[in-house]
Amino acid sequence: MSELGVTGEAPPARRQDVMEEITRLARPEILEMASSAPGRTAQREGDVLTRLDANENPYPPFPAGVDALPHNRYPEAQPAHLLDRFADCFGTPRDRMLITRGVDEATDLLVRAFCAARQDAILICPPVFGRHAVSARLQSVAIHEVPLRKEAGFELDPDRILAVHRSDPGLKVLFLCTPNDPTGNLVRRADVLELASRLLGKALVVADQTYVEYSGDAPLSREIDAHPNLVVLRTLSKEYSLAGEQVGIVIAHPAVVGILERIAIPRPLTQSTIATVAAAVSPAGIEYARANIGRVLGERRRVEDALSTLPGIRVHPSDANFLLVDVDRPEELTHRMRQAGIRILDCGAVPGIEDSVRISIGTYRQNQAMLAVLRAHAATSGGPG
Ligand SMILES: *Cc1c(COP(=O)(O)O)cnc(C)c1O
Repeated sequence: MSELGVTGEAPPARRQDVMEEITRLARPEILEMASSAPGRTAQREGDVLTRLDANENPYPPFPAGVDALPHNRYPEAQPAHLLDRFADCFGTPRDRMLITRGVDEATDLLVRAFCAARQDAILICPPVFGRHAVSARLQSVAIHEVPLRKEAGFELDPDRILAVHRSDPGLKVLFLCTPNDPTGNLVRRADVLELASRLLGKALVVADQTYVEYSGDAPLSREIDAHPNLVVLRTLSKEYSLAGEQVGIVIAHPAVVGILERIAIPRPLTQSTIATVAAAVSPAGIEYARANIGRVLGERRRVEDALSTLPGIRVHPSDANFLLVDVDRPEELTHRMRQAGIRILDCGAVPGIEDSVRISIGTYRQNQAMLAVLRAHAATSGGPG
C-alpha cells in the first residue's frame, strides 16, 4: 500500500476559487444549459399518495402481482435512500456522488461535459479498459496515449503525462484506472495525487476504481478534499455482484457533480434496479459482498500459486479479481478453454501485452476446471520462457 506523496501538493484552495477553477474547465454550452435534472429530494418519494403529475399509467403492468414494485411509476432520479447507503459503502457525503447507469455512462458524461469536439483531448494510459477512448471518439475528442511502464510493473509515467499536457493544454480529462484493467495492478497513489496537484485548474484526473475493494488499498475518493479535480468512478458491477444492473457512482467535488448532473439522463436506474440495489447495499448485503470478496481473494492466491508452478507461464501481480498471465500461444490457449466451455480474454491484439490472457477468478470449481486446461496447455509448451 503506497503512502500519500508530499511533493507538489497545492495549498488548500478556498471553496469559491475551487468552484471557479473547476467550472471553467467545462464546455461553455453546458454551463449555459439549465439543469434538466429533476432535482434531488430530501426524503424518499414513497409518501406521495396520488401521483397525477407525470402522465404515468395508474395500473400495474401485466402480469400483475409478480412483485410489489411500482413499475408504472417513474423512479426517483437520484434515490435518496440509495445515496444514504452509498455514503456508508463509499465513505462519501451525498453531495459528492452522482449515480449513473454504470461506469460507461459516467465516462461519457465526463467527456461530454468537459471536452469540446475537435478541440479538446483526453489522455489514457494503455494497456487499459477501452471505454474511456470510445467515449472520446463519440465526442470527436482527441486521445493522447502515454503507455504504462511495463518494465516497472505497469506504473504510470507522470513526467510524460505532464509533458503531453504542456504540449496540448486542450487536454482536459486524464483517465487512469487503478487497479488497472487488464494488467491488474494498482498504480502508485502518490503519482495519481501528484498529477492531480500539478493539473489543478487545468484538467480533471479521473481514477476508475472499479476493483479497489479487491486491492486492500484505501479508495482515492478520500483525497478529493485535498484534490478537488480528482474524480473517482465506482461501480456495483464487480464488488457487489451487480454487473447485470449497471449502477455506477461518480465521486467528485460537488462542482463536478453539479456539472455532470446537468447532462445526465434524468433517471439512470429502473424501479427493479433500485430495489435490487437497496438490498445489496443494506448492512447485510455489504457483509455478504465483503465475504465474497474475501473468498475471491483466497482463490486468487490459490490460483496464483498453482500457476507459478507451471512451465512457460508468468503471472503478473494482481490487486483485482483477475490475473494477467503471460503464456505461450495465448490464442491457442483461449481456443482450448472455449472447447472446455471456459471463456478467458485473449489479449493478443492489445499492444504491449500480446503474449497475455486475462483470467477472472471464479469459484473453486470453475478455477479448478480452468487450471486443468492451463496445465494441459503448459504440458505442450516448449518449456520455460
Ligand atoms: C468492468 C469495468 C467497468 C464496468 O463498469 P460498469 O459499471 O459495469 O459499466 C468499468 N471500468 C473498468 C476498468 C472495468 O474493468
